[in-house]
Amino acid sequence: MKKKTTTRQSRTSSAATARAVRTKMGKTTAAKPTTAKAKTVTVPPRRAGLKPAAKRVAAARATAKPARTAAAKFVYAFGGGTAEGNAGLKSLLGGKGANLAEMAGLGLPVPPGFTISTEVCTHFYAHGRRYPTTLLAEVDRHLARVEHVVGRRFGDATRPLLVSVRSGARASMPGMMDTVLNLGLNDATVQGVIALSGDARFAYDCYRRFVAMYGDVVLGLKPQSKTEIDPFELILERKKHARGVTLDTELTADDLRELVGEFKAAIRDRLGVEFPEDPRQQLWGAVGAVFGSWMNDRAIAYRKMNSIPETWGTAVNVQSMVFGNLGDDSGTGVAFTRDPATGANVFYGEFLMNAQGEDVVAGTRTPLHIAQLERENPRIYQQLLKIRRTLERHYRDVMDIEFTIEKGRLYMLQCRVGKRTGAAAIRIALEMVKERLITSREALLRVEPDQLNHLLRPTFLATQKEAAVRENRLVTRGLNAGPGAATGRIVFHAEDAEAAVARGEAVILVRIETSPEDIRGMAVAEGILTARGGMTSHAALVARQMGKVCVAGCEPLQIDYSSGEMRVAGSDLVLKEGDAISIDGTSGEVFLGHIDTEPSEVVRVLIDRSLAPDAAPVYQQYAQLMQWADRARRLQVRTNADQPDQCANAIAFGAEGVGLCRTEHMFFGEGKIGPMREMILAETVAQRRLALAKLLPLQRADFEGIFRAMGGRPVTIRTIDPPLHEFLPHEAADQQVLAEQMGIPAQRVRDRVAALHEFNPMLGFRGCRLGIVYPEITEMQARAIFEAAASVIQSGTPAEPEVMIPLVGHVKELQLQAAIVRRVAAEVMAERGVAMKYAVGTMIEVPRGAVTADAIAGVAEFFSFGTNDLTQMALGVSRDDAARFLIPYVRDFEIYERDPFESLDQDGVGVLIRMAVDKGRGVRPKLKVGICGEHGGDPDSVRFCHSVGLDYVSCSPFRVPIARLAAAQAALSDNKGPGATE
Ligand code: ADP
Ligand code: MG
Ligand code: MG
Repeated sequence: MKKKTTTRQSRTSSAATARAVRTKMGKTTAAKPTTAKAKTVTVPPRRAGLKPAAKRVAAARATAKPARTAAAKFVYAFGGGTAEGNAGLKSLLGGKGANLAEMAGLGLPVPPGFTISTEVCTHFYAHGRRYPTTLLAEVDRHLARVEHVVGRRFGDATRPLLVSVRSGARASMPGMMDTVLNLGLNDATVQGVIALSGDARFAYDCYRRFVAMYGDVVLGLKPQSKTEIDPFELILERKKHARGVTLDTELTADDLRELVGEFKAAIRDRLGVEFPEDPRQQLWGAVGAVFGSWMNDRAIAYRKMNSIPETWGTAVNVQSMVFGNLGDDSGTGVAFTRDPATGANVFYGEFLMNAQGEDVVAGTRTPLHIAQLERENPRIYQQLLKIRRTLERHYRDVMDIEFTIEKGRLYMLQCRVGKRTGAAAIRIALEMVKERLITSREALLRVEPDQLNHLLRPTFLATQKEAAVRENRLVTRGLNAGPGAATGRIVFHAEDAEAAVARGEAVILVRIETSPEDIRGMAVAEGILTARGGMTSHAALVARQMGKVCVAGCEPLQIDYSSGEMRVAGSDLVLKEGDAISIDGTSGEVFLGHIDTEPSEVVRVLIDRSLAPDAAPVYQQYAQLMQWADRARRLQVRTNADQPDQCANAIAFGAEGVGLCRTEHMFFGEGKIGPMREMILAETVAQRRLALAKLLPLQRADFEGIFRAMGGRPVTIRTIDPPLHEFLPHEAADQQVLAEQMGIPAQRVRDRVAALHEFNPMLGFRGCRLGIVYPEITEMQARAIFEAAASVIQSGTPAEPEVMIPLVGHVKELQLQAAIVRRVAAEVMAERGVAMKYAVGTMIEVPRGAVTADAIAGVAEFFSFGTNDLTQMALGVSRDDAARFLIPYVRDFEIYERDPFESLDQDGVGVLIRMAVDKGRGVRPKLKVGICGEHGGDPDSVRFCHSVGLDYVSCSPFRVPIARLAAAQAALSDNKGPGATE
């Protein structure tokens, strides 16, 4: 027996991490394995307060011994001719850190700095918010390197080094974590900055920004309610008012110096703490705040929404500052190497001169288009274009970059793969194939299946929009940040959006600008409208990612949260919360009132057939991608449809058959509910047969329509499934009407309804149980199916019925029902003189059915997993009653990663499916197996279906393209070859 060793010491995952450290020379050396030696220590402010040199000595002494025994590496250098990391180390360095290292490695101008790895974050939370002991010395060493490269000292009063402290998680989390700029400033070092720059105004501008950012992010002085203004913003506004100016840039050095004092006083008064003057204390305070922010509410909310595991942690980047606020030959900007809204191959971005960091993204000043930079500074513009090419060739993808210009010199501060709309994703992928940057296989893997939804999104009804323009309801215009058309009532707060949507209203969330706190409100709104911020503002970025309609930077809007009103500059219009507006995220227009929407280009070509393919470029891209997908996939894709028109739509979207036709929906159609109720209320077999005889021709006509629409493709029809009481009238008045129709006393109807009452109808008299107790129902349905097929075949169109028996848990249930179906099939074929191919199979949706799948496969010619019921029964969760606990289950407790009714519970229900497939095929090797639950249109579930060897998935018509792409991706990732993307 192995000896079990327990240790209280920390154990990091670094040993398992393949840590290839890329050196300056491009040599690849494997890092030493980690020893699990690190003890933990916090950074007490007193120690952090030591003078830099003394501190370094102390730290070095403290770690002298462990250092000799190969301590874990937690810090990675970049810039200044070094790149210890690279883009492949995202899980260790976070996206930002990994890409900063990659850019440094490419020789791009990256201000030097270092990354504290995500392992420290994991350690931090596993050890009561303490750091590994060796971290202090390691940070000191790296800081010394940066000091050396830059030629400035951190905390030095004559040549001070200033740094930014930036978070960076593995997956990009826009705006979720807070960056602190200009760290290292205090009353002494600011004098050094003044001396070095010769610009007191600049120095105090940095200082006041730093105190405000630090006060907010690290010390937590922020607005306490949704209407409160940021405390620092308030002091700033007062100062501007007192000086009679409107822009920050009009404040003098003295004004800004006073602001520093006033900001510090506000921190003291409101929080009861002193602003830390010691740069080391500032640094560790900021590092702690970044790690701390991994667990703040908005970060948690974002992770939940994007299925990012908590265990990933964030890295912290400490980077020497470069300054975009050093005058008119300095500036800051963000750009995409291609247009992220349309995918057009044009350089796309925004910048502001004499501005720092967040000014562009925060939307406090509306930035200029990048083309303007070509005029203002052609040299920098050319350099950016060159970097654009370098990055696209290197990453072979569209990149999103952040840059700063300091006194005419360009610096790269960030790059990452650019978020894009669905339309852009497809266009970019296809064009990059043409440019030979990527293969068609990679193109398929680059488009998220759900992004196809963007192509199916509606636009405004042209006539109504024209009318709105004529009626002067086009009130203003903003930036076309998220394409599509949306209409709804105005709400000004994210919480209000959530509340209104919960009441069933459609809303447009209108904000001055959005922040991560608004994400949940943005997710439920039809569209988002902001007064400030550019195409790369928070609102724009998040909207595109969510596939939301968004108009951003609509400057004429004057929004007053406290009165719940919005004015439009240049008019006397006042809009109130609750008023209807419509926004066009493709053009940026904002309209008063409601405008109906109409389907997208793809929908018009395929479904409405109101547009010719030649005249539809977006459709053509869609069609090309789908063609590649169909070539790559193994899984077939069917649709769930109950009517001929739905079948036609699904075929247009590429469906290869019907995976589930629910017959009960038909009983609610024209003229059918009456005979249906008669059938249910019948007290004798003879009465029941009489009612069924009335239903037969009606069902037969329905099936004929479906067989014709499907043109010979397989059609799986399920026999009656729901509990009978669902068809009966429950109101006294309706019962009275029915009684009169049937010529029976109302009391008889009431009695029968009462008799059919069930305590738990979903586990009651439904599914095959109905057809077993009342075989004449199954007989009628089988006859309708086969007679319809016979007629269609005789008229020259092939038809292939697959009759599916629901809710089978025991093989005998299927035997009884299959015998009826096969007998009727033989009768009809004999009567009509036609031969036809047909199959009898079952839904696997009761756990017992899955467990005894081998026995059942002895009778069934096919299985179709009814994963809605299978999930309900396997989890013991009623879907209709689940919201109250399933939402917190997923959101708060992470019991299930996603809603198990949306995305298949692979570890639970998935195991039943896998087992049933294996058992079934063990008995009947050619058994056809598919899935027809909601999960058939969920990309993750489709991948699972591929992996367990199903023959097809079936989903609603509009999800068919999504399933086709997901199926292709599943097949492609089976055989990852060279050129495979992650
Ligand atoms: P986010 O993750 O929210 O984008 P970043 O860490 O990228 O936050 O910081 C926001 C902005 O701050 C950057 O785009 C850049 O303009 C500015 N910034 C960050 N670090 C530096 C630095 N070392 N020098 C100059 N500007 C910086
Ligand atoms: Mg950034
Ligand atoms: Mg079912």
